[in-house]
Amino acid sequence: MTSERLAPPSEPQHQVPFYRPDIGEEEIAAVVDAIRSGWLSVGPRTVELERVFAEYVGARHALAVSSCTAALHLGLMTLHLQPEDEVITTTLTFAATGATIIHAGGRPVLADVTADTLNLDPADIARKITPRTRAIVPVHFAGHAVALDDIHALARQHNLVVLEDAAHAIPTNYRGRRIGGLSEMTAFSFYATKNLTTGEGGMLTTNDDKIAEEVRAWRLHGMSRDAWKRYSAGGSWRYDVSRPGFKYNMTDTGAAMGLVQLRRLGEMHRRRQQIAARYTELLADIPELELPVELPENESAWHLYVVRFANEKLSVGRDEIIELLKQQGVGTSVHFIPLHLHSYYRDRFGYRPEHFPVASSAAERILSLPFFTTMTDKDVEYVSSTLRRIIAAHRR
Ligand SMILES: *Cc1c(COP(=O)(O)O)cnc(C)c1O
Repeated sequence: MTSERLAPPSEPQHQVPFYRPDIGEEEIAAVVDAIRSGWLSVGPRTVELERVFAEYVGARHALAVSSCTAALHLGLMTLHLQPEDEVITTTLTFAATGATIIHAGGRPVLADVTADTLNLDPADIARKITPRTRAIVPVHFAGHAVALDDIHALARQHNLVVLEDAAHAIPTNYRGRRIGGLSEMTAFSFYATKNLTTGEGGMLTTNDDKIAEEVRAWRLHGMSRDAWKRYSAGGSWRYDVSRPGFKYNMTDTGAAMGLVQLRRLGEMHRRRQQIAARYTELLADIPELELPVELPENESAWHLYVVRFANEKLSVGRDEIIELLKQQGVGTSVHFIPLHLHSYYRDRFGYRPEHFPVASSAAERILSLPFFTTMTDKDVEYVSSTLRRIIAAHRR
């Protein structure tokens, strides 16, 4: 590695972590209030978050849960999958998207992505549909909407359920419509690094009363009524267990944080848009870099800013660039190592890199730059100029 043209690694001029949460005094006060109220687990704040979130995304029901993983799992449980039933999802996703399909009793069938947005490719979904296919779980990668109209057309044609993994997609607009009420079900994440956080938490939205009722039963021990109602005034001690349910409820302390975050979401989203635009402006003329796109008919949530390196034009690979950036005080991450490259999927399903040409190529090129609402303009400029200098020092 030749990095003589860079400042000595021991003393970076500036530090920019990959991520820092945007939690202010308002969130802290709301959580303290929740603790003082005595409702530490699920309670009135969780119910209120469900109400305002459903309204925000335009869904009939919003069901608060402990994580997006829980939301995906419960959504898939309503399909009552039989052994060998197949669920198609993108290979370029987080572990939870694939694992929950298996936990719900199905077989994950991975499909490739398109080169523009790195979202699930409807043409590859069509190739992977079999008589055993029951559902499609698309992910809105980095916050940019997947081609939902094409996916819904395939779903209608083959009688499939669509459950969107919208962990990155708050707020995402697809052709003027907000993600959250457009498919049978949509799963959101409120994890610490996501666009809206409750520390840990998630939400499943649906317009279907039956799905909502079933998810309500599954999420808290399979009991006929929410535990918090049993302890509130006028509640009864009596309950029935209708199924072996899960322990997937949200907490009121988390919901208190989420209510403030939801109020601030517009402001936080505008800051994300500004940072993305600034990165694009500062990096656009570097021929060794491909920048993320926002298709004109959509509005991205800008959860991540993922660049791709033209490896053939560089004398160092992505992994070395990560190290060089780190030496200069810049934290980065990779979203994601595609599922098909992990040992479990390789060994159990026999997936090979050549089965997913676009995702396999992207896997060696992608890098997520520091991206969070409390970044300063100086931070964005420092990351951009540092990346520019590293690339300039390693042109082929
Ligand atoms: C973060 C993430 C999840 C899981 O979210 P949790 O709330 O942590 O369970 C699922 N899918 C994708 C694409 C994610 O990025």
